[in-house]
Amino acid sequence: MSVPPAGALTTRIAALIAAQGPISIAQYMTLALHDAQGGYYATRDPLGADFTTAPEISQMFGELLGLWCVQLWHDQGRPKHCRLVELGPGRGTLMADALRAMRVAPSFKPQLVLVESSPVLRAIQQRHLAEFDIIWKNHFDEQLADAPLFLLANEFFDALPIRQYVKTQKGWHERMVVANEGALSFALAPGTMPTAILPANRVGAPEGGVYETSAAAGALAREIGHVIAAQGGAALLLDYGYGDAAGFGETLQAVGANNFADILAQPGAHDLSAHVDFAALAEAGRQGGAAVFGPRPQGAFLSSMGLAERAGQLAKAHPASAGELIAGARRLIDPVQMGTLFQALAFVPPGVTPPGF
Ligand code: SAH
Repeated sequence: MSVPPAGALTTRIAALIAAQGPISIAQYMTLALHDAQGGYYATRDPLGADFTTAPEISQMFGELLGLWCVQLWHDQGRPKHCRLVELGPGRGTLMADALRAMRVAPSFKPQLVLVESSPVLRAIQQRHLAEFDIIWKNHFDEQLADAPLFLLANEFFDALPIRQYVKTQKGWHERMVVANEGALSFALAPGTMPTAILPANRVGAPEGGVYETSAAAGALAREIGHVIAAQGGAALLLDYGYGDAAGFGETLQAVGANNFADILAQPGAHDLSAHVDFAALAEAGRQGGAAVFGPRPQGAFLSSMGLAERAGQLAKAHPASAGELIAGARRLIDPVQMGTLFQALAFVPPGVTPPGF
């Protein structure tokens, strides 16, 4: 695949700002991540090179998530027609591991749907999951609302666009992206926004405090909660982010080659993400009608799901790779690695209790 020259996307974003005025951080994120010619996800496979995710660390992650779905399918009367949807499947590793574990329940035969915007990653998913009948979609939409829904999303919500508001003496100003002679920088919008749109726990922020919010994440979580409440199923969302109430710090970050980078310097060259506000996702799921469990630290969730036992079994069956298997499992649950920075959140129909919470 030919990659456009560095700076081409900067030039186009600067031209857009010259034409329409400052853009929100959400719009900047959408362009930097998804622009068809220069967007980060649209043009590359970042996994491994720029960051490493749980399914790429250990096969047990996807296996346990697969068993989680099977258990909830079983608990809800084993519906014949149902869907298994993954949001942002990366290389398809999590789905491949989940499907292998799901062989314990041969009558669980969901329609498989992958929601993926990147053509590069879609091609990798297609190769990795060649033996399965899969539908790809760009978005989670109403076509997925007519059957029980089993949904998995790992490190997906952190990539959804956020807007940032900064508290000054005058009130809350949105932080925008502006362009000066072709270079991008941040600037606060001169007007303030009504405090009525702030959640109650944010109103008393100190000066300089930052409020980050993702309309896209809230709307999607509400829709998923709605489908699960109406049709049955379950959703498991794993991501890094605030377990309890979010703070007033900014968490938007650019990462490339496993290092932090400048957010505006080279749009499309680095991954952009922000901490997931789990309290807001949980609230959105409840508004959709689902019962919500968590957020629970990933380490505690995976341990309750039997990670240590599975690691022991695998190590015994494959003694040559025992060290690697155990190290992978440890990395997922260790509090100083991914065990507490990552959180798990579940949506289920009212009256259903998910395992692991
Ligand atoms: N879940 C995978 C990959 C995480 S990276 C893993 O754990 O390894 C984020 C994934 O979400 C990528 O597949 C990316 O292309 C996809 N993605 C990001 N934003 C998206 C959007 N708005 N719509 C659809 N897919 C998106």
